[in-house]
Amino acid sequence: MIAVVLGAPGSGKGTQSRLLSEKHHLSHVATGDILRSEIAMGTALGRQADGYVKKGQLVPDELVTAMLASRIERAPNDDYFLDGFPRNLRQAEELDKLLKRWDGRVDTALFLSLPAAEALKRLSARQICAKCGAVYNAVTKPVRKPGVCDACGGDVVARGDDAKETAVRRIAVYEKETTPLLDHYRRRGILREIDAAGDPIRVSRAMEAALADFWDHRDGDGSGGT
Ligand code: ADP
Ligand code: ZN
Repeated sequence: MIAVVLGAPGSGKGTQSRLLSEKHHLSHVATGDILRSEIAMGTALGRQADGYVKKGQLVPDELVTAMLASRIERAPNDDYFLDGFPRNLRQAEELDKLLKRWDGRVDTALFLSLPAAEALKRLSARQICAKCGAVYNAVTKPVRKPGVCDACGGDVVARGDDAKETAVRRIAVYEKETTPLLDHYRRRGILREIDAAGDPIRVSRAMEAALADFWDHRDGDGSGGT
């Protein structure tokens, strides 16, 4: 199964995808996490991506698409939770082409819907672990010991690109580039909209219900496809 998660920066895509992937043994691929680790390691890809991420712009499609392809090629038969990819129509087309090589397709698109003002509020309080990527929030989900990750003891810091001006740009980029994907997947009948404003546990349950819906239909469909 290939699930993609769509939503504004701050909508909770990362936190929720990570959680559900673990619970249901799906491979979680978060392009933002991979880019941040490439940047931290100073790889060739990291050096090319750094400036874009810092400014809150999209990293060029060729770079991100190649990065994603090499990740999926390693285990094409895994079940995937794609978090942060695709982010525009071109990436969605590249993803379709890629998956077709193994007769796969995007099976379900989960859209975490959140008003921009609320997203911005969350980003301003967000903190992440520089080591394991765990996500915290200074207001709603603080670390137990200031600056230290509960999970791994790594340093917990604000993401550079969560600074107000950059966060505003990222939300604008999301609205212009990524929201057209909603119609793209809606037309295919696979878009599931989930209200991301409430309690994280409720959001998580709604996402699980959407996945279960897909699993039930797949299991009930003995036709073998085309
Ligand atoms: P968020 O969704 O909260 O903005 P991410 O961690 O998903 O955070 O992404 C952080 C940054 O990484 C983006 O602002 C962008 O610069 C880059 N990035 C991540 N995924 C992609 C992608 N699919 N295409 C282009 N750039 C990407
Ligand atoms: Zn950590």
